[in-house]
Amino acid sequence: MTGASRLGGGEADTQQSAMGIVEPVLSEVEGLNPSYIDCSEPAEEVGLKPDLRPSSASGGDLSKLGWPQLKAMVRDCTACKLRAGCTQTVFGVGDENADWLFVGEGPGADEDAQGEPFVGQAGKLLDNMLLSIKLRRGKDVYIANIVKCRPPGNRNPDAEEIAACMPYLRRQIELIKPKLIVALGKVASNALLGKEATLASLRGTLHDFQGIPLIVTYHPAYLLRSPAEKAKTWQDLCFAVQEMQKL
Ligand code: URA
Repeated sequence: MTGASRLGGGEADTQQSAMGIVEPVLSEVEGLNPSYIDCSEPAEEVGLKPDLRPSSASGGDLSKLGWPQLKAMVRDCTACKLRAGCTQTVFGVGDENADWLFVGEGPGADEDAQGEPFVGQAGKLLDNMLLSIKLRRGKDVYIANIVKCRPPGNRNPDAEEIAACMPYLRRQIELIKPKLIVALGKVASNALLGKEATLASLRGTLHDFQGIPLIVTYHPAYLLRSPAEKAKTWQDLCFAVQEMQKL
């Protein structure tokens, strides 16, 4: 099991420029090693061992399913009440062999309409977060959500809905085999870590999801409302890059 380490300090002023990218030059992204990031402070071991068992779902063994079967199963799922109120399921998007997996909470209105995660304003910010560490949607990155159907009125998914949907994400993770998971926001973090904790208490620590290192940061929708927290998000992304470079 992976040990846990605390995040060192970050450079808020560096973050402001990196996270403020509006028109990123994509050619700069390709093939670049993110080692330019200055994560100089060493991580400190604190020995946290999270409960790795998120609540289990509606049964059924998904462990033999490949991508086409899994996608069909999600598309046809009616395991919880969310499906009745949404337009379509939102499976996930990106490189199915990605090293990086970013996990959000659940589709919003734009995602419900388009069938792809993080395509609204929060998605634009997520794309810029990715670019700030030289990543690009679809290229070595997969993006998924805890629940595949939009909760009405953008409310948080409840425990039952999360339990019903988690097996799909678990199977996605088994198929992708990411080297690192970044959980976006409290709902995603708590669902993946199987515990109720504040985002502040989870940030800056290297967690573990079924043997895969997991790092927690703010949800981009929260950052749109609280832009001052972008500096902390930059620290978290920096921490993630630092950990990825060790893998
Ligand atoms: N918020 C999320 O958590 N996921 C999305 O796909 C969009 C917004």
